Amino acid sequence: MRGLLTFLLVIATFFVSCGSTTAKKSAPAEVPMAVVVPIFNGDSAYSFVEKQVAFGPRVPNSEAHIKCGDWLEDIMRSYGADVVSQRFEVLAYNGDRLSARNIIAQFAPEKRKRVLLCAHWDTRPWADSDPDPSNHYKAIDGANDGGSGVGVLVEIARHLAYAPTEVGVDIVLFDVEDYGIHEKETSAVENSWALGSQYWARLPHKSNYNARFGILLDIVGAPDSKFNVEGISKHYAENIVKKVWAQAKRLGYGNMFVNEDGGYITDDHLYVNRFLGIPCIDIINYDPDSPNGFGPYHHTVKDNMEWISSETLKAVGQTVLNVIYNEK
Ligand SMILES: [Zn+2]
Repeated sequence: MRGLLTFLLVIATFFVSCGSTTAKKSAPAEVPMAVVVPIFNGDSAYSFVEKQVAFGPRVPNSEAHIKCGDWLEDIMRSYGADVVSQRFEVLAYNGDRLSARNIIAQFAPEKRKRVLLCAHWDTRPWADSDPDPSNHYKAIDGANDGGSGVGVLVEIARHLAYAPTEVGVDIVLFDVEDYGIHEKETSAVENSWALGSQYWARLPHKSNYNARFGILLDIVGAPDSKFNVEGISKHYAENIVKKVWAQAKRLGYGNMFVNEDGGYITDDHLYVNRFLGIPCIDIINYDPDSPNGFGPYHHTVKDNMEWISSETLKAVGQTVLNVIYNEK
C-alpha cells in the first residue's frame, strides 16, 4: 500500500508540476510593470537655487532678471526641452511698466496626455515685511520665495532629459508673481499679484492648451517645512491633493505633507484653475496657526540661502517625480 501510495503521489506531483509549468508559459503576464522613478538629488536642486540667487534679486526690468531668464531658457534646452519664451509688457498696480517673460519648457510636446508643473522665477522688489523699516524698499534674494520651486523644477528637468515619462510634461516658470501691492500701502488693489500666470492662463503658449492637472511649487525649501492642504487647491483639485499627499506618505514624508487645512493663498495656481480650468494645486509652506503664516524670513532681506535645506527640496522633488512617473 505504502509503495503504491508513494507511486501515486509521485505521479500526482509530476502532473501538478507539469500543469503549473504549462500554466506559467501560456498565462498572460498580469503583474504590472514596476515604474522606475529616478532618484531626485536634493544637493543638485540646492545648487540650482544657489545659481539663481547668485544673479542677484530677479526683479523685472533688472539686469539680474534678464540674465537669470536667459540661463533658465538655456538649461531647459540643454535638458532637451522645447522652450517657448512668452515675452510681454505688463502694468503693475503702482504704474510700473514691466518687461516680463514666462518660460515654458515642453517635454515630449507631441504627446496629448500632459501634466503641468510650475513655479514663479521672479523675486519680490521690496522686503516690506522686514522688521527693520529701512529695508522696506530693498529687493530680496528670494532664495525660498521663488528660487526654491524653480530649483526643484530644474532638477526634475535634468531627469526628464534621460528618463522620459509616459505623459508629456510642461514646466512653466511664471514671471511677475511677486510684484503685488506693498504691505505698507493701504489702498486695496485687486489681482495685483501673479501677473505672469494671469497672462499665461488667459493666453497660453498654445491655443486650446490642456493638461490633466497642475502642481505649483512655491516656498518649498525651508528646513522643517510643513505643507498643509491649501484651500484653493482643495476647492478646485482635491483628488490631485490626495494623489500627491498619498505619494509623499508612501515615500516617508507624511510628517511634512500633513492633512491639515492651510488657509487660502492667492498664488499662480488660482488663475490656472480659474481661467484655464486645469485642476492645479499649490505645494506651499504656509501654516495659518504660525505667527505670520509664512516663515519669519518671508518678504524680508533674510530670505537667503540660509533658509534653504536640500532635505526639504529632496522631499518635495521626489514626491513630484513619483507622481509624474506614475502617470499613464
Ligand atoms: Zn512672495
